Amino acid sequence: MKIIMLGAPGAGKGTQAKMLAAKYEIPHISTGDIFRANIKNGTELGAKAKEYMDKGLLVPDELVVDLIMDRFKADDCKKGYILDGFPRTIPQAEALDKALTAVGESIDYAINVEVPDENIVNRMSGRRACVGCGATYHIKYSPTKVEGKCDTCGADLIIRDDDKPETVLNRLNIYHEQTQPLIDYYSAKGVMKEVDGTVDMNDVFDAIVAILGE
Ligand code: ADP
Ligand code: AMP
Repeated sequence: MKIIMLGAPGAGKGTQAKMLAAKYEIPHISTGDIFRANIKNGTELGAKAKEYMDKGLLVPDELVVDLIMDRFKADDCKKGYILDGFPRTIPQAEALDKALTAVGESIDYAINVEVPDENIVNRMSGRRACVGCGATYHIKYSPTKVEGKCDTCGADLIIRDDDKPETVLNRLNIYHEQTQPLIDYYSAKGVMKEVDGTVDMNDVFDAIVAILGE
């Protein structure tokens, strides 16, 4: 099963993708996580990506497309995957289509996690990320047992550099300009499904499972 998670930054794509990956036993592929891992490891790709990410801008398509095509070659992608944060532009979606068509495959579902802009800044300001394993929490909606420490691995939690309110507004504008058109793109392909992302995260999950099947 090949699934794309769509939605504004902070809509809950990563939260749902992690839960879905565990249920359906397919990898959760987040381009944002891959870039952050590269930044942490001091790679050349990380340095390039950071210039854009810190400003709330999108990393250029060619960097993202090469990276994801490489990731698809891994063995764990044979049964499918959940894409989180890719594609984010029409050229990225077209590159993905081209690569899939070449091997006789296609996307099964694009799931749009719908959250209005008013809720997004609040979501992002409370988001905390684990520096060790990348788990995501929220100080109010998904708090850790011990403040500032990851429940899974015990490492410290940080506020992402790009979750500052001024950067979030930039990211939201870019989302509306460049990523939202993907909703029409995948609707035209007949694979687009919408869920309400404003409800409790377990209810969002149940709504997605109702679409994908048990
Ligand atoms: P995205 O991957 O779309 O950027 P995340 O999954 O990181 O978004 O979620 C953004 C923030 O909102 C996180 O702090 C997360 O814990 C919280 N969150 C996710 N889903 C919900 C929900 N349904 N209700 C409340 N908070 C949520
Ligand atoms: P995310 O973790 O999905 O919120 O992504 C964080 C940041 O990484 C984005 O704001 C972009 O700067 C960059 N990024 C992640 N995925 C992509 C993509 N598919 N295309 C361009 N930039 C991306």
